[in-house]
Amino acid sequence: MIQNKKLVNKIFTCYLSLGSNLGEREHFIKNAVNSLKKKIDIIKISSQYETEPVGAGTNPYINIVLKGKTDLTPYQMLYFIHTIEISLGRRRDQEVVWGDRTLDIDILLYENFMISDYRLTIPHKQMLKRIFVMEPFAEISPNFLIKSIKVSEHLFRLKDENPYYDITKIGELKLT
Ligand code: AMP
Repeated sequence: MIQNKKLVNKIFTCYLSLGSNLGEREHFIKNAVNSLKKKIDIIKISSQYETEPVGAGTNPYINIVLKGKTDLTPYQMLYFIHTIEISLGRRRDQEVVWGDRTLDIDILLYENFMISDYRLTIPHKQMLKRIFVMEPFAEISPNFLIKSIKVSEHLFRLKDENPYYDITKIGELKLT
């Protein structure tokens, strides 16, 4: 595990993914981004994408990806995003795995950290398999390298493997 002492007073670049498929989806995403701003300096934010649910979910999602800078450690960030999810009505105790949810925030990348324990896996385990993550990611950082391959190329491969996956760009997120 990373020693927290070494991480104090440092600024980290992170990528987060946000999704909502219950209720006022855009409202949840906007509110979450506004809350994230308290601890993250947002550098880039993707458009909103309406996407087909994967797994047990039934309603289409709105997904976005953002890039930010923060002085939170990865575990502090995990705590912070859980606080935001709960404040926006998420009830983990009543959920099905990969089922419908008011708000899901995932940590995709944190600097070049590799973390794998019972609480946190970074890079996010599923990110390279999910078009709803890689398409908004490719919009904001197409040339970013993951495993020495550009994000845009990961997306190209994924789309080739999943030609019928439904994803539509539905416009900018209007933050007020
Ligand atoms: P979720 O249902 O997507 O909110 O995630 C369920 C659990 O996954 C959380 O309680 C986290 O402890 C764990 N988790 C592991 N890696 C990550 C990550 N990279 N980002 C967010 N949650 C993670």
